[in-house]
Amino acid sequence: MPTVAKGFHLDPDLPEDFDCTPNCERPASHRNWWGIPYIVTLRNSDYQTVGFDVRRLDGGAWDRSTSIGHSDTLDSAVEICQRSAEDEIFECPECQATILAKYSGPMTLLEGSGAFLVIICPICSFIASKVKRD
Ligand SMILES: [Zn+2]
Repeated sequence: MPTVAKGFHLDPDLPEDFDCTPNCERPASHRNWWGIPYIVTLRNSDYQTVGFDVRRLDGGAWDRSTSIGHSDTLDSAVEICQRSAEDEIFECPECQATILAKYSGPMTLLEGSGAFLVIICPICSFIASKVKRD
């Protein structure tokens, strides 16, 4: 039975190798987690809770989830999860990755016919938008 805190996963049972798999090689079990914030309880060697890490698979790292916040209390970890819903995201129509929009561009792509401003998926290289620059 998964544990939740106000609707957010707390210490979820993540798929095998979740934090050591290149984003472009993720199986379906991993891809279900794109863009979903979750909370990990941090414990010391005596297994006492010392804080909470809020993480999300959002393209911030090439092979693991990204830490998007840290807190001393579960309530403030939930607030970090809630605030993360305001982050602008890019959903790739090709590979279904849900990543922070800033990781997809816009960036300049130089080709033989000139320079283009592109929005590109950093996971699968799908070009979602391409506009010729002056
Ligand atoms: Zn993609």
